[in-house]
Amino acid sequence: MNKCLLFLVFSIFLIDCSTSRNKATNLLSILEINKSLVDKDLLKLMKTYPNFIIGSHDNYIVWSDSSLMIFDDKIEKSYEEMLKNPSIKDMFKYKYTPFILDTPALNFDPGRIRNEEFFKKMYGQNKSEVEKNLVTVNWLPNNINKKILVTKINGVSDSLQKISDELDTLYHLHKYIDNIGGTYNWRYIAETERLSAHSFGIAIDINIKYSNYWCWDNNNNRFEYKNQIPLEIVSIFEKHGFIWGGKWYHYDTMHFEYRPELL
Ligand SMILES: [Zn+2]
Repeated sequence: MNKCLLFLVFSIFLIDCSTSRNKATNLLSILEINKSLVDKDLLKLMKTYPNFIIGSHDNYIVWSDSSLMIFDDKIEKSYEEMLKNPSIKDMFKYKYTPFILDTPALNFDPGRIRNEEFFKKMYGQNKSEVEKNLVTVNWLPNNINKKILVTKINGVSDSLQKISDELDTLYHLHKYIDNIGGTYNWRYIAETERLSAHSFGIAIDINIKYSNYWCWDNNNNRFEYKNQIPLEIVSIFEKHGFIWGGKWYHYDTMHFEYRPELL
């Protein structure tokens, strides 16, 4: 284990033995020291996936089963190369900004860059492994009352149920979230060899009728940003750990996925 982390664990143990009066101050100062030593994006992964990621060792993520995964391959990549074969660090290349609507700049796709091995490690290596952890969410039980499947891992189903319960009382938004496009589906993104986020049971597509997708508008690689989904819906999802595909240059405004590390 990383020496800095060992130091942190040992220091926390020592603080536990000290008086409670000094405890908060000491812990804060140690965390401040270590924040500067561990990559801030890796710290965010530890904070948002605490059941899986327990530390770092050199340039590797330490998983809770003691296995290691490279964090930053330090390879310069074009946008296309990064999309096809990103490191875990590359997933943070574009900063996702919650609670606002803006038109994304060229290739600005925060969250569209996914290291597949990272998601397989948490949600399942294959279809049957993912499916073992799928549970039912009652989508807007008082108004739409549809049963949908997402993973229970990382509290995804609990978070989606909270989103659903909040949306259930907001009648003016129901047309956007009725007839949802789907949740779990083990599949590759069209014309690619990359697994969709839907494969891991962490994504939901809302009503296609009010959605825009860059592929539908693409004419010889020319398309213009379009969106009909209100910020009010987007913000409710973001509050509970989901990012929105409407913040991508390659926009997909029906799409939300659980990516708390980006928020
Ligand atoms: Zn989707």
